[in-house]
Amino acid sequence: MSRPVPKPGILDIAPYVPGKSGAGLSGRVFKLSANEAALGPSPKAVEAFRNGAGHLEDYPDGSAGRLREAIGRTYGIDPAQIVVGIGSGELLHYLANIYLGPGDEAIHTTHGFLLYPIATLANGATNVIAAEKNLTADVDAILKAVTSRTRLVWLANPNNPTGTYVSASEVKRLQANLPPNVLLVLDAAYADFVTADDYEAGLELVKNTENTVMARTFSKIYGLAAARLGFIYGPAHVIDVVNRTRAPFNASGPSMQAAIAALADTAHYEAARSHNTKWRQWLTDEVTKLGLKVTPSVANFILINFPEQKGKTAEDADAFLTKRGLILRAVKAYKLPNALRLTVGTEEANRLVIDALRDFVSST
Ligand SMILES: *Cc1c(COP(=O)(O)O)cnc(C)c1O
Repeated sequence: MSRPVPKPGILDIAPYVPGKSGAGLSGRVFKLSANEAALGPSPKAVEAFRNGAGHLEDYPDGSAGRLREAIGRTYGIDPAQIVVGIGSGELLHYLANIYLGPGDEAIHTTHGFLLYPIATLANGATNVIAAEKNLTADVDAILKAVTSRTRLVWLANPNNPTGTYVSASEVKRLQANLPPNVLLVLDAAYADFVTADDYEAGLELVKNTENTVMARTFSKIYGLAAARLGFIYGPAHVIDVVNRTRAPFNASGPSMQAAIAALADTAHYEAARSHNTKWRQWLTDEVTKLGLKVTPSVANFILINFPEQKGKTAEDADAFLTKRGLILRAVKAYKLPNALRLTVGTEEANRLVIDALRDFVSST
């Protein structure tokens, strides 16, 4: 019997599996598996969203004009070079749809974000994996992986789930040595949490080159994951084609109003950043004291590495913590079977995790 058949590549995709939510557990649950904001969104953003709900019968501004202007002011960039989308995820898919097809190659690194291979395969293109060094993207390995078929390089900087980053000078070197027809996509979802001096999200490269795009999200530091908003900043010719293909009215009105209010509330942003800096370090120190290895992170999560010894593995720890209502992210799908990713939480959640890990480590 004949039936509709998807394009080549589609059935090679393993569906994206989000972190456990803890639904179904009794008692209090702390979801530390999705890199959501420890302090939540700005109360002003919540209020703006509520106000936006007064007119659900109206289509939103399809060009996201006010939000693009607010983003432009915040980052000092031209609003005409911004496209807003349903999270940055939607926009990354558009880039793949536009630039990748059968026979093309897209490069990402060993533990790169799982959306990249999905978007690549969905377009019948081939995933090429560049090895990392110390769980960090390696510019030389990426450059070595480039062939005449390469059309796109995905680089999460900082990367999820490793929490590591590539310095500004290395990203610059990557761009400078890529063929000019290869699109470099800098996914800077966690840029706001980075305090390292030698880091840049990519604003300069986008401004000064024709093949670099930076993606940002309102899901992480702004605490608006449910509002589903992100944006890309890119050269005019890229923005033009994304606007030709994107779904009309892709960003919802109340969500955009919330995002505009969130951008204006710089005090909340700074509080979220300070909270993260303080507790990321505290968690790193405390986990290390327990004899577990933490991969140094610049993001709003840390990667905890467990031994392979029976009873002490990442899987054992995951089960132990889950029983206490502490939901971390298993990262097996990221080829990190011996690790768990822990999102920086509230002070209470962070302390509970360390108490539980202490009990886990000392249990026989
Ligand atoms: C969370 C995240 C995003 C953003 O996702 P949204 O679709 O904007 O919610 C993008 N890239 C990486 C690496 C992420 O971890």
